[in-house]
Amino acid sequence: MKHLILGAGAAGISAARKILKEKPDDEIIIVSEDTEVYSRCMLHRFISGERDAAGLNFINDDLLERRNVTWIKGKTLTRLDADSKTVYAGDEKVASGDTILIATGANSVTPPIGDLRTAKNAFGLRHLSDARSIVNCAKNAEKVAIIGAGLVGLDACYALLELGKNGLTSPQITVIEMAPSALAINVDAHAAEAYQKKFEEKGVTFLLARKVVGTKSDGNGSITAVELDGGDSRLTSLSVPCDMVVMAVGVRPAIAFLEGSGVKTERAVVVDDYLATNVPGIYAAGDAAGLSGIWPNAQKQGEFAAYNMTGTKWAYDDRFAIKNTVNFFGLLTLSVGAIKPEEGDETLVKEDRGNYRKLILRDGAVAGVILQGEIGGSGFWQHLIKNKIRIDTLGKSPWKVSYADFFGVENNGEYKWVV
Ligand SMILES: Cc1cc2nc3c(=O)[nH]c(=O)nc-3n(C[C@H](O)[C@H](O)[C@H](O)COP(=O)(O)OP(=O)(O)OC[C@H]3O[C@@H](n4cnc5c(N)ncnc54)[C@H](O)[C@@H]3O)c2cc1C
Repeated sequence: MKHLILGAGAAGISAARKILKEKPDDEIIIVSEDTEVYSRCMLHRFISGERDAAGLNFINDDLLERRNVTWIKGKTLTRLDADSKTVYAGDEKVASGDTILIATGANSVTPPIGDLRTAKNAFGLRHLSDARSIVNCAKNAEKVAIIGAGLVGLDACYALLELGKNGLTSPQITVIEMAPSALAINVDAHAAEAYQKKFEEKGVTFLLARKVVGTKSDGNGSITAVELDGGDSRLTSLSVPCDMVVMAVGVRPAIAFLEGSGVKTERAVVVDDYLATNVPGIYAAGDAAGLSGIWPNAQKQGEFAAYNMTGTKWAYDDRFAIKNTVNFFGLLTLSVGAIKPEEGDETLVKEDRGNYRKLILRDGAVAGVILQGEIGGSGFWQHLIKNKIRIDTLGKSPWKVSYADFFGVENNGEYKWVV
């Protein structure tokens, strides 16, 4: 059987690996726009100069050199013919297969504001090519505006502060964010503030609850300032001078090539519990499937799709809780599940010696946890959240609940999780 994998990122590569394990003699063709395999989570280390491109490669064996694996790189797919399961780049027929995995990830969103879409000095941060452009432009940039204070925006900020490792000088950085706090989809405002302070100590300016409404340009295709509205009515509009802009305002699944193919898409490719699309034999995984936007989930989905592509029916059961890890300047935070309480939820907070812990309780169960500083025991909280296990019946403080509360002894003398 021939499996065609579109994308050589987290989902595509883990799918290829799993197919080879399940069906060692099946043929695999991987097609990607990327010409190198690299971890997007490490792009900031490339910008800072801590790693070169080879140091971002997350394949540490001969996977792509196996006799039944072909990697067609540097091809930007523009069309999929679902009937013949064939993909095209322009008029060129690139490859076809008996099954297809759509694992093309996502692209940065560029807002249609001022010259952000056309300027020579405005970049997203999604691909290695973006990181290379940022390094190049940073050579002459004294002032940088970063739009978006989410994980990618702060990754860029961190990397630009560390530019010394690339033999360059750090620019003066302003981070502009529409939400009232940084990392708004990853952690709560309190945990985010700890990071903001650390960045501010390094000289970064944060402009929160502010919207970019325009740009000023030099007439030669470069932005010289980004214009902000008043945001909060007590503020006046503001012009932030810059000679480079990094946009980190979100991503959109890279699925334009599916237009007209008959594969059902909404914002992302629509998949069922088996990661199958509406077209038999065609599957999707990772950011292209839009079930979550993080690396470990993309990998896991790639593996589950591979099982289903090779004939073992296996439902992907991890749609449940968003899990985030943040780590800047040695400060670790992990959040699982809900970050903000809903009406009727109870919130418990504990703070001591640099550690911050927050629990959100809903209907007697844990709906979310944030651990900052010491993050041990996160697997336990994750299990409670994922399985909506009630803890109110235990009659003890939620902070004192532990694995021991849920284990009983089976007839055969083995401990078993009992709920
Ligand atoms: C700067 C940054 C930092 C991040 N940090 C973290 C983090 O700390 N933790 C975390 O869990 N996640 C992080 N992520 C998210 C994580 O990288 C993604 O969730 C993950 O890469 C998704 O994997 P994927 O296989 O779906 O897509 P990708 O890894 O994006 O791979 C997509 C593949 O498809 C190819 N492709 C795309 N379009 C086409 C086309 N038209 N034709 C041919 N090939 C195409 C690409 O070339 C690529 O090979 C970060 C992302 C970025 C950008």
